[in-house]
This record gives sequence, structure tokens and C-alpha cells, in this order.
Amino acid sequence: RAKAEGGGVFCSFAEGMDETARQAVAMEAELRRALVRSELELHFQPQIDLRDRRVIGAEALLRWHHPERGFITPGVFLPVAEESGLIYEIGEWVLNEACQQAVRWRQAGLGDLRIAVNISPTQFRKQSVSSLVRSALAASRLPPELLEIEITENVVMQGAERVLKDLRDIRDQGVQVAIDDFGTGYSSLAYLKRFKVDRLKIDQCFVQTMEEDISDAAIIDAVIGLGKSLDLQIVAEGVERAEQADLLARAGCDEAQGYYFGRPMPSKLFVKSLSPQGMMVAGGESVVREPG
Ligand code: C2E
Ligand code: MG
Ligand code: MG
Ligand code: MG
Repeated sequence: RAKAEGGGVFCSFAEGMDETARQAVAMEAELRRALVRSELELHFQPQIDLRDRRVIGAEALLRWHHPERGFITPGVFLPVAEESGLIYEIGEWVLNEACQQAVRWRQAGLGDLRIAVNISPTQFRKQSVSSLVRSALAASRLPPELLEIEITENVVMQGAERVLKDLRDIRDQGVQVAIDDFGTGYSSLAYLKRFKVDRLKIDQCFVQTMEEDISDAAIIDAVIGLGKSLDLQIVAEGVERAEQADLLARAGCDEAQGYYFGRPMPSKLFVKSLSPQGMMVAGGESVVREPG
């Protein structure tokens, strides 16, 4: 969408297109090429059980390995992917790639690691996500309970009946559903009654300042309480310090994720980080292939 800036003058498309819009058009073309050239890859961030501090799974986070600019994070290119519709193809690729990776970890003897995949609200609007999930599970033969779909509150809140049906179909397949960035959307909690989820991910903005801000700590406590009464698992996002991990564990938070435990990393490094000595896992390198 070309946005006319300055003085409220609306120019013709060609000359009125501002720098931001021009960049978006250029990026769309590059992103299209990136798909063809397999420049997209998944990085994996460990998710930890706060009771025993063991890695129970990973969140798949999309990266664009640009030939000149290096790794580009999704904040930069996802808006373009969503505007252009490329998100559908990208989203399908992410889902398949994530399931295949989780199966490779199992085959490498790393156990039942869960894999969490982000699905954007745009995807639910036009795609049958449950069909994509069904094909990805069938193609990879990943046990459904090891897949988790991360959605935002708004998807359920503003969800048309068709979207809620799609979500129910996903859960009926045995796949888990988590609400991402919990506490940041414009929502009432009533949606938790309309649609049953497995997990709430407390947004990192509450975790970041929980040590000094008593209202953040209170919100976190309340969400953990909500989890207990509604029988939902609670995950804290953005844990960067030992103190935060300790406070969260003491408050009864089930799981955590953040730089303190591990940054998003390529599969090879994720696998290495799983060994207790922080050394290479025997056989891991030869068995676990990098995506792509
Ligand atoms: P998200 O799903 O809430 O993912 C968490 C983001 O926080 C990630 O940013 C992660 O790298 C970052 N993070 C993790 N731990 C920490 C920490 O301790 N401190 C700080 N400051 N940040 C931390 P990333 O990878 O840039 O992803 C941004 C967002 O892009 C994600 O937020 C998600 O909404 C979206 N996204 C990522 N991958 C995909 C994908 O495959 N498909 C879709 N549709 N969206 C994706
Ligand atoms: Mg997420
Ligand atoms: Mg999040
Ligand atoms: Mg987010």
C-alpha cells in the first residue's frame, strides 16, 4: 500500500510511492526469489521445563539467509510476506520443515521433543490451516502430540466460526495449541471458554521487568493462577536472567524460553546444546541434517 506522506498531498502511484513502499515492492521480489533459491531456514529456540530445567522442545523461528545481508529476522520481512500473500507458501514450507526436523531429532535418538510453529492471523483468514497440518503430519509421520501451533489471541477473539472450526480440527488431530504473546492483545478472557487451548505463553514484556515492576509480577502470578484453574500450561517468554527463571519457577510457572536458556539457533547447534557437557552429541552431527 503506497502511503502518501507530507502535507497530505496524494500523488499518483509512481511518483507518490514513498521510500518505504518502494522498499516493500523490492523486498517482495527478493522474497519470491528467496523461496525459489531456498534462502529461508528455521532456527530453533529451546523450551525448558522449569521443574527440572530440561529441554522439552523448541520453537521454530523463521530466518531469511540473505546472500548479501546475512540473516534477516521475521519482523523485517513478514509484513511484506503477509501483504503480498507470499505468507501462504512460506507458512506451508515452515510447517513441513518443522515437522521434518522434529522427526530427524527423534531418529537421532534425542527423544520426544515438541516443536512449536507460529501461524499468522493472515493464514487463518484464507487457508485451511488444519489441512496443512494434516498433510505435514502425514508427510513427516511426526506424532501429532509433538506438534504445537502458536496463534495470537486475536485469531480466537475475532475468529469467525470458520476459523474456530479450523482450530478445533487442529486440536482434534491431537496437535497442541498455544496462545502466543498472551496479555498483549485487545481481548476479553471469554475466548478461553469458547475455545480450549493447551498452553498460554506470557509475553516477554511482562517478564523483562518482573523483578522491579510489581504490577508485572502480579500479572504473571495471575496468569499462572489462571493456568492452574483452567488446566493450561504456562510458558514464560523472554527469560534473560537467572533471577527471572528462579522467580518464575517459584511462582509455579511450568515452562520457560529465552536467551538465558538459549537463543534461536540452527538445528546443528540446537542439538549440540542438548548434551549436558555442552559438547557435541555423539553421532548427532552425522545423523541430524541441516534444513535445506
Ligand atoms: P514470537 O513467536 O513471540 O517469538 C519470540 C521472539 O522473541 C523471537 O523473535 C525470538 O527470537 C525472540 N526472543 C526469544 N527469547 C528472547 C529473549 O530472551 N529476549 C528477547 N529480547 N527476545 C527473545 P523473532 O525470531 O525475531 O520472531 C519475531 C516474531 O516473528 C515471532 O514472535 C513470531 O510472531 C513471528 N514469526 C517467527 N517465525 C515465524 C514463522 O515461521 N511464521 C510466522 N507466521 N511467524 C513467525
Ligand atoms: Mg511464537
Ligand atoms: Mg511471543
Ligand atoms: Mg511476537
